[in-house]
Amino acid sequence: QWIYLNGEYVTKEEATVSVYDHGFLYGDGIFEGIRIYNGNIFKCKEHLDRLYDSAKSIMLNIPLTYSEMEQALVETIRRNGLKDGYIRLVVSRGPGDLGLDPRRSPKASVIIIVEQLSIYPEEAYIHGLKTVSVSTRRNVPDALNPKIKSLNYLNNILVKIQANLAGVGEAIMLNSQGYVAEGSSDNIFIVKRGTVFTPPCYCGALEGITRAAIIEICQKIGYTVKEEPFTLHDVYVADEVFFTGTAAEVIAVREVDARIIGEGKAGPITTRLLQEFRNIVEVDGVK
Ligand code: PLP
Repeated sequence: QWIYLNGEYVTKEEATVSVYDHGFLYGDGIFEGIRIYNGNIFKCKEHLDRLYDSAKSIMLNIPLTYSEMEQALVETIRRNGLKDGYIRLVVSRGPGDLGLDPRRSPKASVIIIVEQLSIYPEEAYIHGLKTVSVSTRRNVPDALNPKIKSLNYLNNILVKIQANLAGVGEAIMLNSQGYVAEGSSDNIFIVKRGTVFTPPCYCGALEGITRAAIIEICQKIGYTVKEEPFTLHDVYVADEVFFTGTAAEVIAVREVDARIIGEGKAGPITTRLLQEFRNIVEVDGVK
């Protein structure tokens, strides 16, 4: 396995960063999780746009141009010889001193890891996930806009810990006003009487790239889709609930806080959206 580390390709053992890196000391940095399908980088432009926007917002200078970054991704994939897999692209503020001041970290660290992906078993996509809501809240309006995909994932990790304690794979996080925000690392959708709903990003959801792809697919195949705030009650009484994310794609939910959703398995709209999504992933992307 070859890892891109600041312009060089190194082994997993050699791929280390300084203990003074502000990504480590303060979670000061940003990242992307990207899929490779059939040798193509899925939604490469969208991921790089989100990365460079996140960087601009936090005044982090990425030492590679957009096309150099694209080339680095392509080359890392080539060296690892993977046709299908997952890319983790991390840009941290880089090594500095113990103080917060980013001016002391003149050189950002850039890391690209390409790996095989371990996702949910196929049967989970048919039967759906059991899930719970958790007490961890996403504060809105937040000092940190949820559109920034920052390395500060403590909130999401607390959600994951609560999911683990409940014995489920993914959980639902509300925002400080009680509206549904998202999962620990997935966006959430519900379906009611044929209409598809997802929380607007101002509710505390990341502007997920899979989320955007699903909204686009809905519009293309004629499902009404609305970005509207909703509550846990709306989730409990929904006909279908599903999560979306780069790793999970589109995964149905069969149970939330011991309420069975719909028929207790992936519903027809979720199933259709997963199918449509899997049709586009094969053809979209940078070679
Ligand atoms: N929400 C959070 C907090 C995430 O970390 C992710 C994963 O990247 C998502 C949603 C889904 O976003 P995407 O579809 O861009 O992977």
